[in-house]
Amino acid sequence: MGVNIGSIRNLLVDMDGVLYRGHTALPGAADLIAYLQERKFGYLLVTNNSTLTQAQFVARLAGMGMSVPEDRILTSGVATAAYLARRAAPGARVYVVGEQALVDELVKRGFVMGGRDSDYVVAGWDKYLTYDKLATATLAIRDGAQFIGTNPDKTYPLERDIVPGAGSIQAAITAATDVEPLIIGKPGTPGLLQALELLGGRPEDTAILGDRLDTDIVGGQQAGIHTILVLTGISTREEALACGQPPDLIYSNLPALLADWRDRG
Ligand SMILES: [Mg+2]
Repeated sequence: MGVNIGSIRNLLVDMDGVLYRGHTALPGAADLIAYLQERKFGYLLVTNNSTLTQAQFVARLAGMGMSVPEDRILTSGVATAAYLARRAAPGARVYVVGEQALVDELVKRGFVMGGRDSDYVVAGWDKYLTYDKLATATLAIRDGAQFIGTNPDKTYPLERDIVPGAGSIQAAITAATDVEPLIIGKPGTPGLLQALELLGGRPEDTAILGDRLDTDIVGGQQAGIHTILVLTGISTREEALACGQPPDLIYSNLPALLADWRDRG
């Protein structure tokens, strides 16, 4: 606690529950992006959602009045493909339980889409999940493929409902294999370390801004950077104050955060 927001020069920004809910921008979202760009602060929009490409996020943000270039967006799908590209042999086979955007990222990096014979099983959010996909993933892992999870979110909040997310799909595969996935997205560290490398800031002047204690805040703490919670998404102030390691800063919303940053920056 006790971090001065005026010392922050690099910001990782979670999107859902911070910049928008569903397809509606939250108050202050466009102002925050404009402020980061005006001040020439380092920033990266980080999301655990692997079902959209960077270009699709750019279009979604543009539709809500935010102009952000593709290279300022890091999805868990992009982070997973980059992580594997550093470790796997060129042309390694991957079995994907996930949507087209995730497949595209892996293909772009030179991976070959395989079946049971794959070297890796990558599981993310998949709204077209079938029993066959679960079975092939299970068989590949039982045959020795490494099990990678894009992100661990068990649920995904839609405008009115909460539906199963990537974590629920991984849980089904874990039940069938007794193997836990290596998680790339928040709060896993591989994705956040990539984000910090891309930003190039020092941990002392870098923070993550998010709406979830269990992913954004825990992930930021594990990565050794400052943490800022806004109360426009999932977690409440009561939950934040009751948890073992509360976030460094808590703001009701983005306008309150921006007012404070402008005052102290
Ligand atoms: Mg969020």
